[in-house]
Amino acid sequence: MITEIGNDIHIAAELLRANKLVAIPTETVYGLAGNVFSEAAVKQIFGVKQRPANNPLIVHVHNADILNEIVRSVPAEAKILLNAFTPGPLTLLLPKKNIVPDMVTAGLPDVAVRLPDHNLTLALMAEAGLPLAAPSANPYTYISPTSAMHVLQMLNGKIPYILDGGSCKFGLESTIIGFPKGVPTLYRKGAIPIEEIEDKIGKIKLATSEKVLAPGMHAKHYSPKTKLIVSDDLEQDIQKYSHQKIGVITYNVYSNLLANEHQLLLCRHDDFKTAGANLYGAMHAMDSRDYDIIIVRKFPDTGIGISINDRLSRAKA
Ligand code: AMP
Ligand code: MG
Repeated sequence: MITEIGNDIHIAAELLRANKLVAIPTETVYGLAGNVFSEAAVKQIFGVKQRPANNPLIVHVHNADILNEIVRSVPAEAKILLNAFTPGPLTLLLPKKNIVPDMVTAGLPDVAVRLPDHNLTLALMAEAGLPLAAPSANPYTYISPTSAMHVLQMLNGKIPYILDGGSCKFGLESTIIGFPKGVPTLYRKGAIPIEEIEDKIGKIKLATSEKVLAPGMHAKHYSPKTKLIVSDDLEQDIQKYSHQKIGVITYNVYSNLLANEHQLLLCRHDDFKTAGANLYGAMHAMDSRDYDIIIVRKFPDTGIGISINDRLSRAKA
């Protein structure tokens, strides 16, 4: 199969209506999208990603009417969050209607839904007239794509079209909130810091690891092929591994202990939103170079730093 890159939503919509897959830009990461109502399309998503069937997909919708086509009810807190953060990087787990194939939710009663903040993808969904099942457009456990080029590098020849909408604004996956027994619960740390969610609806429970194992908050995820180390003390670790070929990802200043050409900075000063947006791109770049080890400097555990550290801890697993 030839993989084409372009920005033509008509071509993309036609492919989706024919139950073929299209990679789509969003504000979080690029998604691997298919018609949610088509089991054939959903099966291809799992196949192309080599994702286990017990790991459910996020469904993308472009307005409230389409949302109501696929979910049975929306709790009051969910409505508050929808008003406050969408379109945006927030995914809600809501009771699904029968029209959503069980394969999409890995047999779970709730479907993960979100309204992405990307004009091209919103226009595409309106044109196709469909909600789209779309997990991240990377092979299972590998680094998520934040540009059309990343998708091409990973999925060339496996999908017919990549809709190029530029670099992803957040570059980190959505924050996932569910409401088991009516209690707002965090299932995935993500692009919206938990403090901002709690400002709107009060204290949020953390999903315990046993509970989320089934839907697939797997320990290993977002991983480069090169060994990755998350460092609390960059200077010490650069010295410790100095006998090997190392690449360093750090946030605002180069270390003096290693040539700058072997280091990537994620932001100037301490703008961690920018750092988050650049993280996966830096990991893709480092992974394509010939290093023995990639060392990433751990972020301060506040705000978006918490979500970045979550990704780093899974990437090193
Ligand atoms: P991705 O789209 O690749 O960012 O991954 C989607 C993630 O959303 C999955 O790995 C699950 O952890 C989570 N998820 C999706 N649907 C559900 C659901 N119904 N219940 C719990 N978690 C879900
Ligand atoms: Mg993913």
